[in-house]
Amino acid sequence: MPAARPSPAGRAPVAPDPDAGGSWWQAGWPSAGYGSLARSTDADVVVVGGGVTGSSAAWHLARAGARVVLVEARELASGASGRNGGFLLAGMAHRPAALAALVGEGRAAELFGLTVEGRERLYEVAAQVGAADCAVRTGSLRLAVDAGEVEDLDREATLLEAAGFAVERLDHASLAPPLRDHFRGGLRFPDDGRSVPAGWVRALGAAAAEAGAIVHECSPIAAIEDDEDGVVVRTRAGVEVRADHVVVATEAWLSGLLPELAGVVLPYRSQVLAAAPPRTDDGVVRRLLPEVSWSRRGWDYAQQAADGTLVVGGEELEDIEHVRSWDETVVDRDQRWLEGWIRRVLEVEPHVVARWAGVLSQTVDGFPLLGPLPGRPRVLACGGWGGAGNVLGFVGGGLVADLARGAEDRIPPELRAARIAEGSSAR
Ligand SMILES: Cc1cc2nc3c(=O)[nH]c(=O)nc-3n(C[C@H](O)[C@H](O)[C@H](O)COP(=O)(O)OP(=O)(O)OC[C@H]3O[C@@H](n4cnc5c(N)ncnc54)[C@H](O)[C@@H]3O)c2cc1C
Repeated sequence: MPAARPSPAGRAPVAPDPDAGGSWWQAGWPSAGYGSLARSTDADVVVVGGGVTGSSAAWHLARAGARVVLVEARELASGASGRNGGFLLAGMAHRPAALAALVGEGRAAELFGLTVEGRERLYEVAAQVGAADCAVRTGSLRLAVDAGEVEDLDREATLLEAAGFAVERLDHASLAPPLRDHFRGGLRFPDDGRSVPAGWVRALGAAAAEAGAIVHECSPIAAIEDDEDGVVVRTRAGVEVRADHVVVATEAWLSGLLPELAGVVLPYRSQVLAAAPPRTDDGVVRRLLPEVSWSRRGWDYAQQAADGTLVVGGEELEDIEHVRSWDETVVDRDQRWLEGWIRRVLEVEPHVVARWAGVLSQTVDGFPLLGPLPGRPRVLACGGWGGAGNVLGFVGGGLVADLARGAEDRIPPELRAARIAEGSSAR
């Protein structure tokens, strides 16, 4: 039976479909396996959602000595964090020039700087948790398909150069073939990187458990109750965790548990495929993409994994009927478009080994949502990354962990969840 198509303004399902097909990353880097939440318990902080954001929050909290319980509906990195393109980019959904138009150049540079610091910290932590090969500094390449995108890149480079960030301009002639035949120019960010999304996040979750966090998988939370004394989260089976604070890190599913976010946090489903490594006639793997590479303002994104596998994602068109969905289902039309992209741009025949879809979230004002919801000081939202959560989710998990344990509140004002109060721009 076809699933009902949710309205963009509707509320997410309370939890994702446990039977949705998985990604090439999830199959290759399995979860360590954690038991479900079988008995009611208590903690200082309960974290709901075991993607990069929830795992980061749990890791930061456990290392700071807090009693933390992490509860995930499926396995760690089952959602966007185990299905994505594996780009470790500085920046947020509003790219620097757009950000500067909204908050001014100085603030735009500060917000970009926060993600640069976060990316550097991410590399360090990945090495520390034994996942250095899952977060590698390769550089990233943003490519322009038309004159409008060339202008965007120019504005972005001017702003970042003025603020002292590392960025290299590539004119058409300096693009390597075959990219030169398809793109008008590019920007290279030498310190961005490539990740193995499920590998890195599952290693971070395991490190949180080693540091003392209690991790439960296969435990969908169905309700959150809160008052001035604390919070209770309850599974579908009626098992409870009582805590001082809850961190809700369920990204596209935020409004399933937090009804005030319906119409504020919207789902965006994106398609991905993995194709076997392209080889020369002698069987040697051809390295076609030294950097993670993206174009058409993010509608096309591609990386070549360490073994040479091509992981390519995106959509032919931003078709709202298709992308505004919480169903992690494969869409044939877009999958064919991705195969065509490999043929056209990389000039190789794709031998597809896996296809999948993932769902990320977009907020209506394009900024993430961090911290307490209006009138609910113990309920800390953490998400709305808008397709840039690999670094931002790691950073945000740390910022919200600080708040939950009473440390310094460093959440930038533009990202505060409290702005959703009636009349603010997020509505
Ligand atoms: C196809 C695709 C490509 C992308 N490419 C990139 C990229 O290259 N670079 C980048 O920076 N970002 C990218 N993103 C975005 C990035 O993946 C996300 O922003 C990031 O992974 C979000 O992490 P998260 O932990 O907040 O959410 P998620 O990883 O989605 O984790 C949320 C978790 O909550 C769980 N959950 C939901 N409801 C409940 C409940 N009721 N009870 C318990 N658990 C629950 C889910 O099972 C899930 O595991 C991409 C996203 C997609 C979908």
